[in-house]
Amino acid sequence: MWRYDDTRAAMRDALRLSRAMTYKSAVAGLPLGGGKGVIMLPGPIDDRRRKAALRDFGDTVEELRGQYVTAEDVGTSARAMEVIAERTKHVTGLSRRRGGSGDPSPWTALGVDAAIRASLERKLGSPDPKGRTVVVSGLGHVGAALAKLLAKAGAKLVVTDIDRSKKAIAEQLGARWVTPAKAPTLSADVFAPCALGGVLDHESVPALQVPIVAGAANNQLADDTIADLLAERGILWAPDFVANAGGIINISVELGRGGYDPDRARAKVEGVGDTIREIYGLAQDIDDTPFSAALALAQRRVDEA
Ligand code: NAD
Repeated sequence: MWRYDDTRAAMRDALRLSRAMTYKSAVAGLPLGGGKGVIMLPGPIDDRRRKAALRDFGDTVEELRGQYVTAEDVGTSARAMEVIAERTKHVTGLSRRRGGSGDPSPWTALGVDAAIRASLERKLGSPDPKGRTVVVSGLGHVGAALAKLLAKAGAKLVVTDIDRSKKAIAEQLGARWVTPAKAPTLSADVFAPCALGGVLDHESVPALQVPIVAGAANNQLADDTIADLLAERGILWAPDFVANAGGIINISVELGRGGYDPDRARAKVEGVGDTIREIYGLAQDIDDTPFSAALALAQRRVDEA
């Protein structure tokens, strides 16, 4: 759930995000297309109107008879999915108690962790995060889970968030806390953007002092030319829609034959590392950026489907 200034902005965002979902699923090798739901609801939103909108949305999803399956995203939760489920069965990400796969964020973090390891291997010769310095920007659902995985693996962590209450997570993990503005300028092995999109632009990229950028945030590039700028600076960028596919991969297990199985989900999500390796290899073969290689791989799979 998100606020838009007008309907055209909402439509544009739905189309942009559905294209990104198509590419995300295609690169991950999932038998899914891509779709996005935008609910038009003018005026202030209270709990009653929010639930009514979710039920209306559930009716719309039901009318599509399974061609569109909805899931959690920014601003929604497993509880929101339960309201939608009052009207349709074509909903994923319900709580484990309700037979669903639950919060996708830890799975997204696991996929990003695999992407970081594959990037370390490619750029620095070993996938082991032990002793490597990783800067995690954004300690939300995904960023905090990623920081925990990296801390457990022995990485030296530097973390930040605009919400200063997240400092408690830094203390718990023994991580160094810096301001959000400083994080992308630090000398480290990996910068992991886990907050909002557009973080890589013509100002931030020249200031980066890392050989690798790999994180969860969607739409990290302010525009497509930033991929070239990263490559010119010798910075290896794990394309966001590949690195952050763990959540949708987990959900695909829920939709597969036999229903949800966390062990199967783990094995598939860890495969994000292999996909990233394949993309880095392809980028080298076509002498282009990992971004172009990932798009080419996605388009090839869409064409084949
Ligand atoms: P979240 O809202 O739980 O966390 C985002 C965190 O970033 C918050 O703690 C917020 O305070 C912080 N933040 C916002 N602006 C910041 C800034 N300028 N600098 C530092 N911190 C800032 O969101 P999330 O679910 O953890 O998702 C994080 C990113 O990953 C988003 O871009 C999301 O689209 C993407 N993503 C998430 C999932 C998932 O499974 N949740 C899957 C794929 C992609």
